[in-house]
Amino acid sequence: MATAETFENLKNLQEILVQKYDLEKKVNDAPKQLSNQEDLLAKTRKEFIEQKTAYDAIQEKVTGLKAELDEAVKLREEGEKGVANSTTHREYEALEKQISEAKDKEDEVRRELQKEEKDLAALDEKLKITEDSINFSEQELKTSRESIDNEIAQYNEKLAELQTEEDKITPNLKQETLFKFQRIIQRNSEGIVAVRNGVCTGCHMILPANFANEVREAEGNGDKDILFCPYCSRILFYEEVSEDQQEDYFDIGVAGSLAGFDEYLDDDEKAFDDEDSDNENENEVNDDYDSIDDSDVSDEDDDADEEEMDDDEE
Ligand SMILES: [Zn+2]
Repeated sequence: MATAETFENLKNLQEILVQKYDLEKKVNDAPKQLSNQEDLLAKTRKEFIEQKTAYDAIQEKVTGLKAELDEAVKLREEGEKGVANSTTHREYEALEKQISEAKDKEDEVRRELQKEEKDLAALDEKLKITEDSINFSEQELKTSRESIDNEIAQYNEKLAELQTEEDKITPNLKQETLFKFQRIIQRNSEGIVAVRNGVCTGCHMILPANFANEVREAEGNGDKDILFCPYCSRILFYEEVSEDQQEDYFDIGVAGSLAGFDEYLDDDEKAFDDEDSDNENENEVNDDYDSIDDSDVSDEDDDADEEEMDDDEE
């Protein structure tokens, strides 16, 4: 029964691998949850830099305007001083002109300065808001990152547990089988499936009748005879189908008209004749199950009659 054991190993391994690949994907995807927050932070930082550049430019302009203002004030004051000491009319007129021009310049620069300083204050306010926003985003991102790191740590813990389980099974399997099996599960999440009524239950393709027979006969030959579905590459194991299920299968009419199907049924019916003892065992199991079911229900008053009947039978 080496193959039965191998199939059991593969089924257990499948359960582990499906969980493992799912967790690995989660570990991989978890940091992506941060991308929106990271994008927002990057955008806000860029905004801050743009605002700061504009602020610095205005600041420079203001410094220049202040120097111009000082210059104008100086010219005006010099003019005013000079007027008092002027000796000629010509000198007086020239100084009056200097004063008047300086005053105009002063007014103009003051107006401009006022406007620029107002802009500067507004930008300063904006910068503070942007800076707050950056700090908030950074804090938020830090919290999210911690929570995700925590999440990932839990996934990794579970992955380590699964790895221990996997390591118990894998030494019993051939390297090649293992490799193929892992690849199928990564693609399809189910790497070992039953052949029922000559059909691969993984891809629902009808298998060639002689191949389906090989799958049945492979039981007991060890994993050197593990067979893969020619259509979906999954590992196949044979599963006996009761006559009831066969009828259902007929009723649905799945692929009933396809070539090879009749041939396959003939073989299968023969198989049933050969394995009468197996069928009897199956019936026994069913009977046991029924009686357990009845005794469970018999606790309730409504089923008292049934209970008596069951007792009579027994
Ligand atoms: Zn298949």
